[in-house]
Amino acid sequence: MTIDQLRELVRTIPNYPKPGIQFRDVTTLLLHQQGLSETVERLAVSVADKPDLIAAIEARGFVVGAALAVRLGCGLLLIRKDGKLPGETIAEDYALEYGKDRLAMHIDACTIGQRVLIVDDLLATGGTALAAARLVRRVGGVITGARFVIDLPELGGGKALRADGIEVAALME
Ligand code: 5GP
Repeated sequence: MTIDQLRELVRTIPNYPKPGIQFRDVTTLLLHQQGLSETVERLAVSVADKPDLIAAIEARGFVVGAALAVRLGCGLLLIRKDGKLPGETIAEDYALEYGKDRLAMHIDACTIGQRVLIVDDLLATGGTALAAARLVRRVGGVITGARFVIDLPELGGGKALRADGIEVAALME
């Protein structure tokens, strides 16, 4: 499949979740057997250096992150909305493209020096991915990069992550 064919599998929902927002819906890409496997394969080959862990961000990041972790042969670290993880957690606040939220991770999910790749479905302002990076770094993890299915470059997330020393790639803009 070409990138254009993959791009066509992403549906755009106007005015969701707020008026004026064009929501890029990846559920239609996930529904497509070849689209899903091609997405995971393309992300996998974009990772030159295998990390120890993939930090996947709730919720759509879990789907892509888990598949990529199996494909690359590494573990999966779940970054969740605050209040959902059962063990001892640390949390970081972040501003969304629309609204505010707080992400959490288990304090013992990553050990000092472990190499961690952040994965989510979409990069907008970068606030979510940077909060995930702060969580991992607080417990001594090393961020090796970040991967997304979609980057919305006009929202500046790629620039913000690179300014923080994070290597970034996405399959499509
Ligand atoms: P950021 O923190 O980079 O501004 O926003 C990215 C986060 O918001 C990601 O977790 C992503 O799932 C979600 N998000 C924001 N806009 C969209 C969108 O248009 N489509 C999808 N699928 N997710 C979005």
